[in-house]
Amino acid sequence: MPRETKDIMKIVTILGARPQFIKAAVVSRALSQYDDIREIIVHTGQHFDPNMSQLFFEEMGIPEPSYNLDIHGLPHGALTGRMMEQVEGVLLRERPDWLLVYGDTDSTLAGALAAKKLHIRVAHVEAGLRSFNEAMPEEINRILTDRISDLLFCPSEMAVNQLRDEGRLANGAQVVMSGDVMKDAALQFAPLMRQPAAELPDRFVLCTFHRAENVDNEKTLKQLLYALELTCNTIPVVCPLHPHTRKSIEAIAYPIDQSPIQFIEPVGYLEMLYLLSHCTLVMTDSGGLQKEAYYMKKYCVTLRNETEWTELAGCGYNHVVGTEPMNIVQTVQNLLDVTPVFPFELYGDGHAAEAIAKTMNRR
Ligand code: UDP
Repeated sequence: MPRETKDIMKIVTILGARPQFIKAAVVSRALSQYDDIREIIVHTGQHFDPNMSQLFFEEMGIPEPSYNLDIHGLPHGALTGRMMEQVEGVLLRERPDWLLVYGDTDSTLAGALAAKKLHIRVAHVEAGLRSFNEAMPEEINRILTDRISDLLFCPSEMAVNQLRDEGRLANGAQVVMSGDVMKDAALQFAPLMRQPAAELPDRFVLCTFHRAENVDNEKTLKQLLYALELTCNTIPVVCPLHPHTRKSIEAIAYPIDQSPIQFIEPVGYLEMLYLLSHCTLVMTDSGGLQKEAYYMKKYCVTLRNETEWTELAGCGYNHVVGTEPMNIVQTVQNLLDVTPVFPFELYGDGHAAEAIAKTMNRR
């Protein structure tokens, strides 16, 4: 598909979920430094609650989307299909040189597939990550997006090696070790961190969980809530509640208001940085938070059986414990007595977004 004009490189960026807004905040800013790059943002609507979406655009200065597709609340197939259909319409109208996608959500895959079939080149930020658990929807999205991307930006050497093992280096795709854009975000926005409205204990565990395998399965969800309640006997637990998790907890009639766990509404990124910097320990099943714990020099207890951020587990900063309550409680107790000393060298130099913009500008 030809460029609209000779001099301007047009990039259509697909965003849809909270972590993608955070990644885009730094990359869009880096792209805007180039006069001859024009970025058009498409918001699929996957996350739509104001405190999961609009708040991030405001707090982090992300350019307003040119298109809001308003697609959400559907099963994976319908969600991905409708997004593809709508994104295809945008691409036919805008005729960009590149389609830019982030991470591993249904919005990522829908955008990449729609572009590839129109012969528009695809750039994927956060390429090469694998949990090796294909029961996770995110793993399928990552593998397929990497397979059809032309430009793959990796957060680590391990991710580059993974793509090499899968043959991506040999067949025309360009693989770049850019570093992690979430490290850029943590470093750039940390000076702006903001105290959340909720009253906080002096010491606390910061906990988030929302993975389908944890909250869509009643037995696992009950186990996790039990583990958090037990943890509260030792140290308070503060838990910003993802809307999907809230729905699942309400469905099992768990008494959120009477729980010893301090549930709060989801917070903005600047408030999250405050929680990260003031907590004693992080407990999560989120991908992004595992790294942010490391960037803020906190140990992380990961409520999953595997992680795609394997370097952190290998170095002992991240303890991947699964969902068995006694394992979780014991690991938390052990880590509370240890003062973390973290070197800061994993996942690039904090200038990943600049590297991405520079590479795209040259293509
Ligand atoms: N986050 C946030 N507010 C919250 C919970 C999380 O700003 O109430 C941020 C968190 O700091 C991280 C990102 O959202 O940068 C992680 O998103 P999420 O856990 O939804 O997705 P995942 O990383 O698991 O894909």
